[in-house]
Amino acid sequence: MKTLDGKALAETIRTEIAGQVAQLRSECGVVPCLAAVLVGDDPASAIYVSNKEKACQKIGVESRLFRLPSTTSTDELLELVKKLNGDPTVHGILVQLPLPSGCDELRILDAIDPRKDVDAFHPENVGLISQGRPRFLPCTPYGVQQMLVRNGIETSGKHVVIVGRSDIVGKPMALMLVQKKDGADATVTIVHSRTKNLAELTRQADILIVAIGRARFLTADMVKPGAVVVDVGINRLPDGKICGDVDFEAVKEVAGAISPVPGGVGPLTISMLLLNTLTAAKLLNRIS
Ligand code: NAP
Repeated sequence: MKTLDGKALAETIRTEIAGQVAQLRSECGVVPCLAAVLVGDDPASAIYVSNKEKACQKIGVESRLFRLPSTTSTDELLELVKKLNGDPTVHGILVQLPLPSGCDELRILDAIDPRKDVDAFHPENVGLISQGRPRFLPCTPYGVQQMLVRNGIETSGKHVVIVGRSDIVGKPMALMLVQKKDGADATVTIVHSRTKNLAELTRQADILIVAIGRARFLTADMVKPGAVVVDVGINRLPDGKICGDVDFEAVKEVAGAISPVPGGVGPLTISMLLLNTLTAAKLLNRIS
């Protein structure tokens, strides 16, 4: 059984990006800049944003944090997004989700300039992914794909079963892996909470990607011997520890390869955000 070490791979990718950031700065005088918008005081969101800021600083990407109170209205937030859209020194805009209940999430996300949409949530970017000509790839599915490709895991012709159909992970993951491309070309099945024969389907998977937010949901009997298992889940247990959606200890005895939590997909997600910010800086400055 091979452990898919996301932490080490994330570091490798960040070193690669840092080199490109330094080159962009020295050759073109452009410093990629990510603007992060944090509304309210959700502690988990504050930690995510702070981790993203630190990661930016470490590789020479500028990060600007906009902290707004939980009472912020949709119109006030739209005003900030408009300002960031128009600021030529800002290349990526990230609005940390979830937003407080008073903010209309879809209206805010749709208002972000698609060329600065480094999360790839804007309908224009989702459409481009669907057509196989992405501008940006969404950070978590992008990280999962890199984990597979860079560990030499063949996806072509393989049956990938994705557990979860969110707009952030499950659906874009499926769209990416079904493309006629290297690192894709898979036969993809998506299962979710209404799927009747879920375990029967997961047992058919050569590659299983689990993103549902249920601690240790995927058990060993749901996995075909030798399958690759990628755990996207992040769940906080009552004792404060973090665990994934996969029962790691039991499933590692059956799987051919498995990603841990923490230290799996999470660090890769941030690396891909950095890469998207670099891509945005190049696109906006017409640098190939
Ligand atoms: P989400 O929006 O809550 O979606 C969860 C999906 O799982 C839904 O499609 C839901 O089905 C399905 N689901 C829930 N319970 C299920 C069950 N018992 N059986 C089958 N399907 C079930 O979650 P998300 O944003 O995709 O996140 C999923 C997990 O990944 C969370 O733990 C989150 O923290 C983690 N995550 C990690 C990263 C990272 O960087 N590692 C990034 C994003 C998310 P329905 O659609 O039918 O309700």
